[in-house]
Amino acid sequence: MEENKNKIITVGYLVLMVAFIIMLNSGGKHSDNSHGKAAHGDDPTAYKEAVEPDAQTAKLAYLNQVLETIASTDNRPKAKSGEEEGENPLAGKISPDVAIAKLQQGNIRFAKGESTHPNLDAERRLLAATESQADHAFATVLACSDSRVPVEAIFDAGVMDIFTVRVAGNVCDVDEIGSIEYGVAHVNTPVVVILGHTQCGAVTAVSQAVQGHAHKLETNIPKLIDNIEPAVKKAMELNPDVKGDNIIPAAIEENVWTAMEELFMKSPTTRDFVSKGYAMVVGAVYDIGTGNVTWLSEDKTFEILTKVEASKDKVVIGADSAKEESEPTKATEEKAQEEETEEQEAPQAEEPKVDKA
Ligand SMILES: [Zn+2]
Repeated sequence: MEENKNKIITVGYLVLMVAFIIMLNSGGKHSDNSHGKAAHGDDPTAYKEAVEPDAQTAKLAYLNQVLETIASTDNRPKAKSGEEEGENPLAGKISPDVAIAKLQQGNIRFAKGESTHPNLDAERRLLAATESQADHAFATVLACSDSRVPVEAIFDAGVMDIFTVRVAGNVCDVDEIGSIEYGVAHVNTPVVVILGHTQCGAVTAVSQAVQGHAHKLETNIPKLIDNIEPAVKKAMELNPDVKGDNIIPAAIEENVWTAMEELFMKSPTTRDFVSKGYAMVVGAVYDIGTGNVTWLSEDKTFEILTKVEASKDKVVIGADSAKEESEPTKATEEKAQEEETEEQEAPQAEEPKVDKA
């Protein structure tokens, strides 16, 4: 009898518990806030994330979402009228938007100390030795030689990912422009990044020289940094109240835009690829202290392109060489690619309307 009584009490207690839980749950549906707080209360980390979301975590999640959306829709440019189907030599690659998103994601991983070090194993090296980089590399980056700006590391990229051009002050003169053209037209990278960086020694030296504090420079350095001078002067013109070393950050950004303008002025191929939507050129500034890359306005890229297209001084190529240039090049051997480059680029060199003295 005593045993049965206990059973009845236990069952009754359980029924009451179930009723109470059902009541709580139905109440939760009407009051999501209190329900949510109760759930987060059990897990301090989840609660902290919900209340104080880490800006970078949120940004990474957003970028992942954007990347997924972009990747699910093939937004590569379709052939325009008068253009043959399949003329886009970069048709087999990811679109410029996806390439930029990949770089952004890699940089966020790097800055957060969460690099995954992709494409650095033996398998990737075997692929590099047996396949064309034109089928894999997704970005061309013009960056400074500065040891604090290791390009692959800051984008958390590996072998056969980035076609890199590095030169002190990330200036864009004939050799750099030639390298970028190679990166776009032969390595078929859908994006070109002109990457400046904070505390750039070259920009600092020129900023000080322009303001009357000249440094003694070795034989070949003046010719290297003469490309930076217009950028510093432009930065000073745009910021007349900023004096001394305070002008350096503005000069660093202006130096990115100057390099981009030089590239468009002297590279009809790059202009052509960007206007057709095959490739994109973006400006960016890397912060050597935080590891973050700040991406500059893509609208400004098109502003500069429009300005250059309207300029009488831009370098143009003859119709024949232009046609030859835009043909897809998927040469798998470096030697074959070099021979082609010589064949295609030599006539161009004779034709420029302007040349920098
Ligand atoms: Zn630098």
